Amino acid sequence: MAMEQTLSLIKPDGVARGLIGEVIGRFERAGLKIKAMKMVQLSKTQAQKFYAVHENRPFYDSLTTFMSSGPIVAMILEGEDAILRNRDLMGDTNYQKAAPGTIRADFARDIEANIVHGSDGADTARTEIAFFFNELEKY
Ligand code: UDP
Ligand code: MG
Repeated sequence: MAMEQTLSLIKPDGVARGLIGEVIGRFERAGLKIKAMKMVQLSKTQAQKFYAVHENRPFYDSLTTFMSSGPIVAMILEGEDAILRNRDLMGDTNYQKAAPGTIRADFARDIEANIVHGSDGADTARTEIAFFFNELEKY
């Protein structure tokens, strides 16, 4: 196990549905430390840049419109194995396949509007954290 940082986003549906406290509470109860946090609204162009890895997927245009449709909460989570542990707390991308008790199984009812984003590896964690936070904003 290694001490890691990962980027978590509460997506526009999670914010709009009043799930900020619920999601953050799950992270804190799991022992993940919140090292930085802010609420922002991405432009369509910024959402396209953030999800550039998916630019050739059929859901790219809809996803980036959704991700820029309202405010999101961005966080740096830190802990042992934080990247995988956050993914475990989130559950599968498709809420219908997500394990019971995960954030997506409990709250998502749509494959696109699935409440949370989490980095999927060490390299993406580094670039995604740098996308949202500068040095002054990290503790
Ligand atoms: N997504 C979608 N349709 C799909 C697959 C993904 O709308 O068939 C959206 C969904 O919001 C997902 C995001 O695109 O969270 C990024 O997809 P990825 O495969 O990276 O899933 P994640 O890492 O978020 O679990
Ligand atoms: Mg992903």
